[in-house]
Amino acid sequence: MRLRTRLAVLVCKASGAVLRKLGRGGTNLPGKLALKIDKNILGELSRGVKVTVVTGTNGKTTTSRMIEQAFADAGLRYFSNKSGANLLTGIIAVFAQHATLSGRCPYTHALIECDEAAFRRTSEYLPVECLVVNNIFRDQLDRYGEITHTLNAIREGITHVPNATLCLNADCSLTASLAEDGIPNPVIRFGVNVPIYSETAHELSDAVYCIHCKTQYEYDYRTYGHLGGFRCPKCGYHRVAPEVAVTQVISTGADASDIVLDIFGHAHEVHVNLPGGYNIYNAAAAAAAAHVVGIDEKTTVSALGQFECGFGRAEQFRLGQAQARMMLVKNPAGYNQVINLISHDVGSCKLAFLLNDRFADGTDISWIWDVDFEALAAQQSRFTRIFVSGVRADDMALRLKYAGFPAERIELVRDYEKLLGEIAADAAPAFIMPTYTAMFDLRGEIGRHTDVKAFYE
Ligand SMILES: [Zn+2]
Repeated sequence: MRLRTRLAVLVCKASGAVLRKLGRGGTNLPGKLALKIDKNILGELSRGVKVTVVTGTNGKTTTSRMIEQAFADAGLRYFSNKSGANLLTGIIAVFAQHATLSGRCPYTHALIECDEAAFRRTSEYLPVECLVVNNIFRDQLDRYGEITHTLNAIREGITHVPNATLCLNADCSLTASLAEDGIPNPVIRFGVNVPIYSETAHELSDAVYCIHCKTQYEYDYRTYGHLGGFRCPKCGYHRVAPEVAVTQVISTGADASDIVLDIFGHAHEVHVNLPGGYNIYNAAAAAAAAHVVGIDEKTTVSALGQFECGFGRAEQFRLGQAQARMMLVKNPAGYNQVINLISHDVGSCKLAFLLNDRFADGTDISWIWDVDFEALAAQQSRFTRIFVSGVRADDMALRLKYAGFPAERIELVRDYEKLLGEIAADAAPAFIMPTYTAMFDLRGEIGRHTDVKAFYE
């Protein structure tokens, strides 16, 4: 191995260890230093490793953890990154961490969650065997520009990995278009063949018009957001039937869903151990990836059923007398799915909306006006208390007021300790909906007051 690579690995490992000791893990510095020493470090360290990459707007982390469960159950020698390290420098650091000091990677497989904008560069270095593109939604516009910008970044990245098998969401007209360029890559599609809920919330679509000819799509059915059986009446661009398909939604509950998943013609009844339509998609995506990697279907199906909830996606914990469920919200489509979940739950509960506008949340919060809070306002008698918090709590309160919640019912509680105290005060279960940085802040506060920390690890 080149001396330069070995030095870069050493520096990356050493600086990472020092930072962790200082309690400052999760910075990009070690990867940055390594990249300075050896521009091609990622290419060197990943040589011969079969890499599965998961990208797309929503569900990357959950899908990755589902695939990881299948990797673990299949006994693969793999390593993976976590969502906080999904940019180029973070991915370099993870490879360096798992390399020997001589710069060799002792693992056969790597599972890498990759930010959709970062995929363009990361793909230049990685020998990708399988690329999962979950979906493309409007997200943090100020960071990535227009929605087609994200799509084009992924499209350009794909040109770097002509041997990778693409697992694409058949129901997302944007994602599905990645297979249309006469690319050499093998393609496997996953999708949902039927509506997930009997009635769908009124949702704004992120992709109303045909990506090829700008005519408005027609739909045979919709699952959520712009996902579903789309077709363009003018140019004929349409959903292609997926090889990995949810053919039946048996039940959707507050904690799990039961579906029939058809994997290349073999039907399996699958218990998805997470609630919500979006997790049905994540499960289908994970099954497609597992198929590409060569994991048998029985192992995959059992992995999906045993999978424990992912990092920040639907964490459950007890606060005083109340059972609380925390669900990350970061864009309209994802938020509407959370609202859909709450709407289909029964009984009284508390709601807490936490809105921040730091960089990782998206600094432009106008997206909250595209979220269907009206669907919650229509059921407001169910909600015993309604809290708003976070840096932009005032904007959140205003949005809820316009949705139809009476101003006097909306409680503005800025202090997280106080907020947790209020939620813990009675037994009504709570749904907590924080944006990204609010989730981290709140989790820190929870960790100080309860035993919940161990639950996360
Ligand atoms: Zn068209």
